[in-house]
Amino acid sequence: MAASGGYNYRDGGQRGALRVDRPLSVNSNPKSSVKSKSLPASGPRRNSTGSTGGGGSAGAGVLGRVRVAVRLRPRNDEEMVADADFADCVELQPELKRLKLRKNNWDTDTYEFDEVLTEFASQKRVYEVVAKPVVESVLDGYNGTVMAYGQTGTGKTYTLGQLGEEDTAARGIMVRAMEDILADVSPESDSLSVSYLQLYMETIQDLLDPANDNISIVEDPKTGDVSVPGASLVEIRDQHSFVELLRFGEAHRFATNTKLNTESSRSHAILMVNVKKSVKGRDSALSSQNGNNSHLVKSLKAPVVRKSKLVVVDLAGSERIDKSGSEGHTLEEAKSINLSLSALGKCINALAENSSHVPVRDSKLTRLLRDSFGGTARTSLVITIGPSPRHRGETASTIMFGQRAMKVENMLKLKEEFDYKSLARRLDIQLDKIIAEHERQQKVFEDEMERMSIQAQNRISDVERNYADALEKERLKYQKDYMESIKKLEEQLVITQKKHDSEKITNGHEDNGSNMTSSKESCRLHVEEIDDLTKLLQKETMLRKAAEEEVQNLKSQLTQWKRSEAAGNSEILKLRKMLEDEEHQKEKFEGEIARLHSQLLQLSFEADETSQQLDRSGPGKIGGLESLMTQVRQPQLKDSGNGEKGSIAKLFEQVGLQKILSLLEAEDNDVRIHAVKVVANLAAEETNQERIVEAGGLTSLLMLLENSEDETIHRVAAGAIANLAMNETNQELIMTQGGISLLSMTAAHGKDPQTLRMVAGAIANLCGNDKLQNKLRGEGGIKALLGMVRCGHPDVLAQVARGIANFAKCESRASTQGTKTGKSLLIEDGALAWIVQNASNNASPIKRHIELALCHLAQHEVNAKDMITSGALWELVRISRDCSHEDIRNLAYRTLTSSPTFQAELRRLRIDN
Ligand code: ADP
Ligand code: MG
Repeated sequence: MAASGGYNYRDGGQRGALRVDRPLSVNSNPKSSVKSKSLPASGPRRNSTGSTGGGGSAGAGVLGRVRVAVRLRPRNDEEMVADADFADCVELQPELKRLKLRKNNWDTDTYEFDEVLTEFASQKRVYEVVAKPVVESVLDGYNGTVMAYGQTGTGKTYTLGQLGEEDTAARGIMVRAMEDILADVSPESDSLSVSYLQLYMETIQDLLDPANDNISIVEDPKTGDVSVPGASLVEIRDQHSFVELLRFGEAHRFATNTKLNTESSRSHAILMVNVKKSVKGRDSALSSQNGNNSHLVKSLKAPVVRKSKLVVVDLAGSERIDKSGSEGHTLEEAKSINLSLSALGKCINALAENSSHVPVRDSKLTRLLRDSFGGTARTSLVITIGPSPRHRGETASTIMFGQRAMKVENMLKLKEEFDYKSLARRLDIQLDKIIAEHERQQKVFEDEMERMSIQAQNRISDVERNYADALEKERLKYQKDYMESIKKLEEQLVITQKKHDSEKITNGHEDNGSNMTSSKESCRLHVEEIDDLTKLLQKETMLRKAAEEEVQNLKSQLTQWKRSEAAGNSEILKLRKMLEDEEHQKEKFEGEIARLHSQLLQLSFEADETSQQLDRSGPGKIGGLESLMTQVRQPQLKDSGNGEKGSIAKLFEQVGLQKILSLLEAEDNDVRIHAVKVVANLAAEETNQERIVEAGGLTSLLMLLENSEDETIHRVAAGAIANLAMNETNQELIMTQGGISLLSMTAAHGKDPQTLRMVAGAIANLCGNDKLQNKLRGEGGIKALLGMVRCGHPDVLAQVARGIANFAKCESRASTQGTKTGKSLLIEDGALAWIVQNASNNASPIKRHIELALCHLAQHEVNAKDMITSGALWELVRISRDCSHEDIRNLAYRTLTSSPTFQAELRRLRIDN
């Protein structure tokens, strides 16, 4: 339907040019026509991989005419009888691909189709000639449509939708197409998803999601592509899941149509299979366009994917239904029902006649199928006809529709695109790798740096040590030299002095005058020498001072080093201390965890025991032998050799029932909890029940419900009461002691689902007593049951459902015996809404009880009206059809058929039962 959309080749010169090499001549006068063969069966498939220019690229298209096959249904039983004396209104010449439509006894019209399928054509052959070429072209990346058109009852659904589970030869086109598609796609790289829709009165419903009943169509203004983003899209992995999906859709279609009060023949069913296939580089038109082969570019190239869509359409019956009234529709409704189909006819006429305006937008169907006629999809139409001469008019109009459709041409287009998402994923992975490598190198670098700095540090300290040693040596050497020089000087001084003295003596005796001059001279020499020596000494002293300063300096540096080392050491000590503390703490926590773990084990063991007991004995039995023992905390009672009964008997002997019961009133809450658990255990045994009741245990348990605030006590006491309530005498006792209002009170305040489950179990048991019905209801028992559904826990719901089923059964019995008149008290108390809501609950015990309750309620005409208005009738119909318990199914069926009110309603709604 592209003429008013994006593919306007009809009006341009392009179309003229393409027409020249069209492989068939379309005949405008079907009667006298002998046409050439239609498109080669593998039209676009061959082109897409072959050498022909257009087909293999994403841009250009391949011209393809809509292929039309006609299929004749064999006479059915009714026609065998009614038309026994008449010939079929058509005669087929399959080898000539011709159909002759009888006008009267002497005149026929002849039409030619792409395929003529006789009443003997197998489903396999029909698939191969009608759908297989389309499926193959979808796998090559083109969109494809397979559609069935014809009067109701001529075999559209048989041709397309037959599941063929009992007889594989009967499988229809949908199932066979999926088989071929699954065989061709690869689960790793390709994807396959399905939507299944129904179009009725211009509203699109999702057959895979019953709640989704008004889906809109979205058109891409640029490409003209239509999509239904609101529809569920289910991934298909195997054939089995697909067939399940079809079955689900079919069931939902039936249910919707029943509710809308129509037949499926009035609606169109549309299956959409979305195929996304990745294309190997060489085969892709896109990659050959961008043929850059450099290695770098290749690794950054997005993979190419082909997206295509197979649409299979089971059209509404083509018969005219505008004779309003006959179907219970108003004229307006009839128009709306017909709208999509007549719009399709108009579009096909316009396309067949090359009209400049094709009214695609007139209906939802034509909008959805705009790609299938005159668009870019490969389209196959199968028109189905019946043999009966009584429907000659409808058959003729179907044939004309097919003839016109044969003139519609499409421009097949390959839809390839780069899969940038997967390229992005690939690049992400590469990036991750690079980051990891970078981090690794960084780490290596840092390690190397650390190693080098340690080395440098070592070298520095070596040098420092050597320097200090050398300095010390130097200092010692200077000191020694200095001492030696001093010593030498002192010696010299002594020698000089001695010399001086002796000279003085000698000179004094010989020549005083000349002596005076020479001694002056020597004195001057001495003074000079002393001066020199003093200078030397000063120099030496300065050097020594410098050396000493240097030593001091080094010393202070050394102390500084030592100080910082000490600080580091104290830091390490502090950290070590912290670590020890942490370890200590950790050990403590581990101990705590181990202790909690063992407590948990103990608790879960007890819980297991409890639930096993519950499973065996119904609600109310709490704890097993083990928990009993631990709860009473009397180790001497442990006796692994004896069985449970033996131990309980021992408990009786050693403690005494009276004593245990008296503990129920103990001051200490813990003691009360232990005692009530023991009593509950005892009450789980039928043999103990009478003794407990005789000893006043029931009264004490009821008092606990009233007086205690503790939920554990409530839970266990209610469990014990539930067990006691299995016995008829006890049931009456519980009632006379005000048990219902106490249980109702507990139900209203209970928070723990297990408490509610026990309470519901107790009430459910009471519900099964014929004598207590009125009293139980009068004291609010049913309301209490219904109140507990608030918690939503399946165990609680199962008990509520059991109570309702019990109650309904007793009531039904009373009504049958004539002791009860009037509506069900369950209905009076508003239980129906919950019943209807949960009739299809997934949990089987809930479902089964509710189904039984519905059957009991339905057996009495007084309840019928309420059941109809609340929707319970639908559930009953469903139960009578597909309940898995045969007995319940039969009961529901019998109940439905024997109720005049139900029968009248079903007739009114035109539902067979
Ligand atoms: P439609 O969908 O066109 O209303 P159906 O597919 O429901 O028609 O067919 C009507 C009845 O005819 C069904 O019972 C179907 O099994 C039977 N039928 C249709 N076509 C054939 C056929 N080719 N061979 C045998 N039975 C057929
Ligand atoms: Mg049908």
